[in-house]
Amino acid sequence: SEIMEGQTIESITNPELVKPEDFKEAEREAMARVRMSLPMYQYRQQFLDAVRDYQVLIIEGETGSGKTTQLPQYLHEEGYTRGGKKIGCTQPRRVAAMSVAKRVSDEMFVKLGAEVGYSIRFEDCTTEKTIIKYMTDGMLLREFLTEPDLSSYNVLIIDEAHERTLHTDILFGLVKDISRFRKDLKLIISSATLDAKKFSEFFDGAPILSVPGRRYPVDIFYTKAPEADYLDAAVVTTLQIHVTQPPGDILVFLTGQEEVDAAADILKVRTMGLGTKIKQLVIACIYSTLPSDLQAKIFEPTPPGARKVVLATNIAETSLTIDGIVYVIDPGFCKQKNYNPRTGMESLIVTPISKASAGQRAGRAGRVAPGKCFRLYTAWAYEHELEANNIPEIQRTNLGNVVLVLKSLGINDLIHFDFMDSPPAEALIRALEQLYALGALNDKGELTKMGRRMAEFPLDPTLSKIIMCSEKYGCSEEIVTICSMLSVNNAIFYRPKDKAIHADNARRNFFQPTGDHMTLLNIYNQWRDTDYSTQWCFENFIQHRSMRRARDVRDQLMSLLERVEVEPVSNGSEPIPILKCVTSGFFYNTGKLQRGDTYRTIKNNQSVQIHPTSSIFQVNPRWVIYHELVETTKEYMRCASDINPSWLTEVAPHYYKKKEVEEEVKQKMPKGVGKSQSDR
Ligand code: ADP
Ligand code: MG
Repeated sequence: SEIMEGQTIESITNPELVKPEDFKEAEREAMARVRMSLPMYQYRQQFLDAVRDYQVLIIEGETGSGKTTQLPQYLHEEGYTRGGKKIGCTQPRRVAAMSVAKRVSDEMFVKLGAEVGYSIRFEDCTTEKTIIKYMTDGMLLREFLTEPDLSSYNVLIIDEAHERTLHTDILFGLVKDISRFRKDLKLIISSATLDAKKFSEFFDGAPILSVPGRRYPVDIFYTKAPEADYLDAAVVTTLQIHVTQPPGDILVFLTGQEEVDAAADILKVRTMGLGTKIKQLVIACIYSTLPSDLQAKIFEPTPPGARKVVLATNIAETSLTIDGIVYVIDPGFCKQKNYNPRTGMESLIVTPISKASAGQRAGRAGRVAPGKCFRLYTAWAYEHELEANNIPEIQRTNLGNVVLVLKSLGINDLIHFDFMDSPPAEALIRALEQLYALGALNDKGELTKMGRRMAEFPLDPTLSKIIMCSEKYGCSEEIVTICSMLSVNNAIFYRPKDKAIHADNARRNFFQPTGDHMTLLNIYNQWRDTDYSTQWCFENFIQHRSMRRARDVRDQLMSLLERVEVEPVSNGSEPIPILKCVTSGFFYNTGKLQRGDTYRTIKNNQSVQIHPTSSIFQVNPRWVIYHELVETTKEYMRCASDINPSWLTEVAPHYYKKKEVEEEVKQKMPKGVGKSQSDR
């Protein structure tokens, strides 16, 4: 349903004057001209010669020079896809994989999903015909599980290598290894102009092809004093540019969807307030969960006389190139994952960017003409507060899923895996411990039968575990629904400011006494019983788009269930078995009520509270499990459910010793503390 027909070229104005075949020919010629104007085109032959002569090649080139869209096409034109062999190109971000595949299918005048396709988690837009395949780095990693030598590929391009995502880093080690025994496989590591030397060293001195991009000078401006509210400052700066500066589009870097939506709302209101006193300002947004039909808007040419402002997350830093940008507004922040191996806590935190990122962002302004970059921080802060480079994700993330995948690939000795930069030993140990506690590894650190089945799911091991456990408790249908709903959990309810009370009432109507997991199940089942009605979502302030996505995810998980031979069965939504299953994966995340509304996490004594949006907020049962901790002004447990502590020893015997739990239960509860599963 997301497949769109190829776009037509604007410059061919009147198709009625030309015969269809002429039209097509002219269209092709126009596209060829566009492609030939890219900096990469000058290096086409040099690139192809290098690929012919070397097995591994490092390519560095300015963002927008044509690495991602052109290199696979050059290779295809040169015959590297003969016999149906594929060229695979990885992208760290799902939006980039989708958007670039769409662009390349347009350039090749084929339907998206045919010769050119993409594969991202829970969405495979490829067919047997596909020879150029864009995919997230995580998907290629999973392909090793089904095709360990990746024999259906002739060429692999590890693109955006400088992003150093966890999956890209793991791929480096794996592809380096297979390139040793598959001498016919061509390997291309492609990155923005950063780190090329380091990549070359890692790949045994592979040659580097540098492609200089077009770059116009960019003037950089700093604020005199730090900004208290960068979102507001970004909006004000946008309007100032719009009113005072010559033509040229604006790109604003924000940290996430909420900020992008908020900035778009404020801009709409303020430009409306200015009425016809100003020229038209077209507002376009881009972030990873934006549906693909809306993503396309950022690439639409700006109407004459108007100006476009693109409100983007990090994705526009190097993954996507938008033509026509002359002004960049850089507040200096991004959202970054952080992991504390000691507490096992993973959190997304708004963090100052690195100098390298700041340079990339500024560079976005100088592609079509001399540009300007407005940094919403001081020159002093740039010099003294920004790190030189980003820290690779592998050094700041939970390694559970990756360790499970590597173990499934038969890589047992993780300490000596060929990492470009090693993860902290503590994080590796923590991941091994967690997998042991989940029953995925035995006490020798070897994969168990359970672990092998868990690895089939592209999910965090905690979620794969509860799916596997649902077999025993006869509720796989319900557990799969809960997992799917958790994947869209932060975007289920819609809460317009002018109807906040109605929206909150609608939400409360779904609440279940045992907590949020059952509430999620209830929402999905009610929607299912209306035959997936859009109207029903609308009436209940539920985002239909998210529900549809949950349904897609659910379909995928159900087919994986079949692969691991778990029967799809329902227990009629009986809460206790369902919550026992959830506990079997989330036993790490247990909180015990201390006093009032304050909980203590069992394993690391952290003070936390139930999130105000929870169905058991203010109910405060004695024991809860939660899906995740979110940090705002306080530490909140999000998606929490009431449990009986005796379940902990039942479903997680590797982790909770009976005596330990009994001790905890014996401890006196303050008077007047709410009822709990433990009393039922
Ligand atoms: P790189 O990977 O080197 O950063 P790309 O191959 O992504 O560069 O982009 C090359 C050019 O293709 C960009 O300059 C841009 O003009 C164009 N382009 C990419 N995606 C689209 C799109 N969806 N619509 C229009 N033009 C696009
Ligand atoms: Mg690219």
